[in-house]
Amino acid sequence: MSEGLEVRGLQVRYGSAAPALDRVDLQVRPGECVTLLGANGSGKSTLFCALSGIVPSSGTIAFDGRDTRRMRPAAIVQLGIAQCAEGRKLFPELSVEKNLRLGAYVRRNRREADASLERVCALFPDVRMKLRAPAGSLSGGQQQMVAIGRALMAKPKLLLLDEPSLGLAPRVVTSMLEAIAQINRDGTMVLIAEQNAYAALAIAQRGYVLAQGRVVLEGSASTLRDNELVKKAFIGA
Ligand code: ATP
Repeated sequence: MSEGLEVRGLQVRYGSAAPALDRVDLQVRPGECVTLLGANGSGKSTLFCALSGIVPSSGTIAFDGRDTRRMRPAAIVQLGIAQCAEGRKLFPELSVEKNLRLGAYVRRNRREADASLERVCALFPDVRMKLRAPAGSLSGGQQQMVAIGRALMAKPKLLLLDEPSLGLAPRVVTSMLEAIAQINRDGTMVLIAEQNAYAALAIAQRGYVLAQGRVVLEGSASTLRDNELVKKAFIGA
């Protein structure tokens, strides 16, 4: 039984248009942080939604040797895959703590949820300071930390991050990516789609480049950083 995420021949089609994902093969192995690069519309969000069980797909998705493709989203979270979606999607009137605890809905054990909350606060000191504040009153960067924290509350083995730094100031992006690197060092696998390709490859061991729903390039993070196509398309060199 192979551990981690194993995707084979994944296909997603919205209506009769060309497939949004076309025979995608991808792995995230235990301990890895993997970066997903691709222009707008290349299929990154669709891949995350397929992995989370939100959009139907064909092909194979196995996690720790279990076929997740026909599982309900909540069962996939329970198995160990949690997604922090693009655009944060917090409940602005609820307190930060309530938003975080919503992420633990798949877990019955209050003590485990408390331990996860403590882990989130240790990772993001700003979040600890704001636990009682309405989530909507936080800055963009703080809200993104809450969104990542909410995904961590499910104690995932694999964390899916779709554009976590979208719209954030460069200084905030750096500390956010440092926190993500720490989450990975603590033993959580990470699959991250990120516009800041250079910074994302710096915290990853491997990466994939998607174009029009296909994997057009894959390799170690250092190989991708030196690749001319990647430099031109994503790093602006
Ligand atoms: P972005 O960074 O802009 O979110 P992306 O790489 O995440 O881009 P997707 O959002 O997955 O790409 O889109 C892949 C393709 O699927 C695009 O052609 C897009 O127009 C199409 N698509 C995405 N969602 C839907 C939908 N709900 N219905 C129809 N087509 C969709």
